[in-house]
Amino acid sequence: MKYSGWKVLRQALGGNKGWEPVWRDPAPKPAYDIIVVGGGGHGLATAYYLAKEYGLTNVAVLEKSWLASGNAGRNTTIIRSNYLLPGNEPFYELSMKLWENLEQDFNYNAMVSQRGVVNLYHSDPQRDAFARRGNAMHMAGADAVLLDEQGIRELCPFLDFDNARFPVKGGLWQPRGGTARHDAVAWGYARGADQRGVDLIQNCEVTGFQVKNGRCIGVETARGPIAAKKVAVCVAGSSGRVMAQAGLRLPIESHVLQAFVSEGLKPIIPGVVTFGAGHFYISQSDKGGLVFGGDIDGYNTYAQRGNLPVVEDVCESGMALMPMIGRARLLRMWGGVMDMSMDGSPFIDKTSVDGLYFNGGWCYGGFKATPASGWCYAHLLAKDEPHPVATELRLDRFKRGHMIDEKGAGAQPNLH
Ligand SMILES: Cc1cc2nc3c(=O)[nH]c(=O)nc-3n(C[C@H](O)[C@H](O)[C@H](O)COP(=O)(O)OP(=O)(O)OC[C@H]3O[C@@H](n4cnc5c(N)ncnc54)[C@H](O)[C@@H]3O)c2cc1C
Repeated sequence: MKYSGWKVLRQALGGNKGWEPVWRDPAPKPAYDIIVVGGGGHGLATAYYLAKEYGLTNVAVLEKSWLASGNAGRNTTIIRSNYLLPGNEPFYELSMKLWENLEQDFNYNAMVSQRGVVNLYHSDPQRDAFARRGNAMHMAGADAVLLDEQGIRELCPFLDFDNARFPVKGGLWQPRGGTARHDAVAWGYARGADQRGVDLIQNCEVTGFQVKNGRCIGVETARGPIAAKKVAVCVAGSSGRVMAQAGLRLPIESHVLQAFVSEGLKPIIPGVVTFGAGHFYISQSDKGGLVFGGDIDGYNTYAQRGNLPVVEDVCESGMALMPMIGRARLLRMWGGVMDMSMDGSPFIDKTSVDGLYFNGGWCYGGFKATPASGWCYAHLLAKDEPHPVATELRLDRFKRGHMIDEKGAGAQPNLH
């Protein structure tokens, strides 16, 4: 379906009864060139770029539920490229550049809003670490501004500057960071892939892999077997469970992460603000709700719901940073299953099974990676070699001793 101002007007006058479905609902074919497992943001972006950049359209995306029913529709929508390490920063900066042109590219309103992301610092050593990070960002072509306390006072006058347990000393600001409407991103990619001939098949869980002589030749699904020359898994929080069906064990644990939205308030938060003395990040949606989150719950699970101690912990961090939040009422909260890797960095790689590819380990940060993840995964699938900015995102990096330990927390997924 195509959109235009004229169509909006006509539908408004006609009671909005003439809108058609945005993508087809095809039955699975017996065979495809490429099967993408998982209809989240990354799977849909991969299919879109396969079709658009490489002309590969004999492709199916198999989704066990509805499109974007996983983390793509559950995250706090923050986009940024403020990473430090060379294995990460060029990848996330590519993503940022793709975000900047995304709506024009797929001709869909994804509400990409570059309102800025500021990471607060509360001590001199933390300032020095942020200065270093900002320099690394500049070297990768990203934008970063180190603000002092006065700069933060002007940007976020609502923070507690006078009686804070952890006084705010300044922050690292990325003006090009911001937010995007999460499910619209998935819908935009879905529409673009469908228009180019990709089959988006919902309610089609992959239940096994067909492997013959060490080569993956297709998948078993809830709707029968489907053959494929290549199978590309990107199921985020279900990574361990799905790859176990091919006999592969991953350096990934699944944890639940919760998100929170307050009642609608007048505009107050300028962009995204993150606390430097606890794990708390907050932005404000266009409807006025404060959208915030904090740490994972801290135990392994595949359940898409969290527990009350973390609600308390997140709200305490919010109160320590901006006590006014205590007067806002919490409207809703939910959980998503995170694919936490051992060093906090993701994977886009071939596996030890020929024809079977893996994309996962996105931890807290896979939404911002959606465009680059799809772009680089499509490159890997089409050319059978990693994209230049994703050469370090390999599954064997722990064996080789080349972890991308952005946080310096070691092989402890609960700390990333
Ligand atoms: C509460 C929360 C807040 C977050 N906030 C941010 C943020 O602010 N910024 C940021 O960058 N990132 C954030 N993230 C992380 C981000 O949402 C994820 O890293 C990213 O969405 C993962 O990629 P995806 O969109 O493809 O995953 P998903 O949307 O989870 O897609 C995976 C899909 O695979 C499907 N699937 C699973 N098993 C099978 C099977 N056997 N067969 C077929 N399909 C299957 C699932 O149903 C699902 O639809 C957050 C996550 C959560 C939960």
